[in-house]
Amino acid sequence: MSSRKRANTPGRHRHAKRADDRDPVQVTCRLRPLSSNESEACVVAIDDEHVKLVPPAGYILRNGLPPVETTYKFSSVFDETASQRMVFDQTSLDLVQDVIKGKDGLLFTYGVTGSGKTYTMTGTPKNQKDGILPHTLDILFNSLLSRADKCIFVPDGRNGFEVQPEGVAMLERARLALRTPCSKFEFKYRIPDTRAVRGANDDYVYAVFVSYIEIYNNVAYDLLETTPLVERGEKPRPPTGKGLHQDSKGNMYVDKVTEVEVSSTEEAFEQFVKGQERRRVAQTMLNAESSRSHSVFNIRLVMAPLDASGCEPVRDSSLLHVSQLSLVDLAGSERSKRTENTGDRLFESGKINQSLMTLRQCIEKLRENQKTSPDRAGQVPYRDQKLTHLFKNYFEGQGKVRMIVCVNPSVTDYEENVFVMSFAEQAQDVEIVRAVEVNFGNGNLPVSRRRMAQWNNEIESALRGHNDGFPDTQAFSVFFDAPPPFELNGPGDSDSIARLRQHYQSTYRKRQDYGASAEQKVTEFEGAFRSYLCVADTHRRRVEEMEREKAEVETENQRLAAQFRQTKRELTALKQRVSKYELAEQVKSDKEEEFKR
Ligand code: ADP
Ligand code: MG
Repeated sequence: MSSRKRANTPGRHRHAKRADDRDPVQVTCRLRPLSSNESEACVVAIDDEHVKLVPPAGYILRNGLPPVETTYKFSSVFDETASQRMVFDQTSLDLVQDVIKGKDGLLFTYGVTGSGKTYTMTGTPKNQKDGILPHTLDILFNSLLSRADKCIFVPDGRNGFEVQPEGVAMLERARLALRTPCSKFEFKYRIPDTRAVRGANDDYVYAVFVSYIEIYNNVAYDLLETTPLVERGEKPRPPTGKGLHQDSKGNMYVDKVTEVEVSSTEEAFEQFVKGQERRRVAQTMLNAESSRSHSVFNIRLVMAPLDASGCEPVRDSSLLHVSQLSLVDLAGSERSKRTENTGDRLFESGKINQSLMTLRQCIEKLRENQKTSPDRAGQVPYRDQKLTHLFKNYFEGQGKVRMIVCVNPSVTDYEENVFVMSFAEQAQDVEIVRAVEVNFGNGNLPVSRRRMAQWNNEIESALRGHNDGFPDTQAFSVFFDAPPPFELNGPGDSDSIARLRQHYQSTYRKRQDYGASAEQKVTEFEGAFRSYLCVADTHRRRVEEMEREKAEVETENQRLAAQFRQTKRELTALKQRVSKYELAEQVKSDKEEEFKR
């Protein structure tokens, strides 16, 4: 530990006066590893909340005095060993949950060029498998209970969305499938984040849209805009700037920005990569440098309540709710003096610094305003720059604002780091009105429409299952009536619940009655069957007996026939003997007669 004195910086301990409905801007400080050729660090993490800025040996201030070691306190501090997931969990996980619950969020990375802003936001340029963006998308898609089919919701051109009739949506889906046969994009060696957060409403369906904007020289460009030229493979023209507009709810948006509907992390990241490619081409054409532009990746979640069927979203655009998470990779915060630019580049870096300068001024003004009464509050100069104008609403209480200060602890960045730290510390003094919970109008309902539809299906298929083996399915479905249409009009709608309860109670009773009568029939049938079996058995035994008797009679018949034949033979023989004797008697009597005579 250094022997130099630890000095407190101004602005600390101010959170004591915080109002209950406000939260400070949460600032996280992340230190990147030193380059392999460096060994001395000017920024060191002390614990989870403190870092110290250590002046390099021999460094002298303009007033000729050596600077003191300074400690800064942040919501959280990550040293070079921190994983991307740890940083995501601390800074962004609850923002994903907020967006699912219908609330907006803004997260930006701030720091000099090379401090790890892009690494933190999206991973390394070559291997964009980690970072806040892919984690955010993974968890978002894992957490949405039900997503609408594509093309049901379409941007209305005024920062809102409309619901399309199913026929139109189907046609559009078919066109989309023809235009983009299959995604060529794949993450190499990516390990997706399989976690999910709670908060998705069971009675809503969701659709996810992304847009990607670059702000360069105070001009906003649409990075997802595909011109017919590019689609035909011709040389692209330099991009044209877009204006900012205010929607009916007072939110700022980039006019006619392309919003692409995506249904997976891969699809969203494909758009991000396309945008980056477009950014690279545009920067070449504009002779610009990426470190001097701000990039804004917007994830917008459109949510629509389910209709009475519990399966389809309502076709009413006025019932849609849209929440947004903006991930902003700011331009390098280095002062123009350091960049030693000339000509155009100096102009550009002056402009970049100007927009970051305006961000600082806005933060400064917000801090000042907090300390004065509302009637004496000064105007915050959001409108001076596109960057601050676009995010004005966040600072005015529309959602959480988070900042990750990325720091390269290299001693060559010491002076810049002094500026970065002081800005970062100021930023967390700004307190923002907490966004109110979105009322989705179905709170306290005993069951969701989707669950109800599921139960209906389960009951119907269970009844159909019972119906197996019964020939008359029509008669069966008449026997069990279809459930009445179910739509709850609010927590107090006891009538609908009573109606439904009545239906299922009567179905249950019918089912019980049916079961009882079926059981009785089975018992009766079994009794009848048993007595039939008894009768059949008696008959069988009788038949057997008769057959036995018949066999005996036949045998007796045969014996008697044989006896008869024998007797007949004996009789014939006797008759022959009698005839013989009669003949002999005749002959004898004839001879005696003759003798007498
Ligand atoms: P910036 O966007 O602020 O200009 P980059 O994100 O491009 O800076 O980071 C500059 C270099 O430092 C890149 O090569 C990046 O991979 C590396 N780097 C930044 N932060 C980290 C980190 N936390 N761990 C490892 N490498 C990092
Ligand atoms: Mg970068």
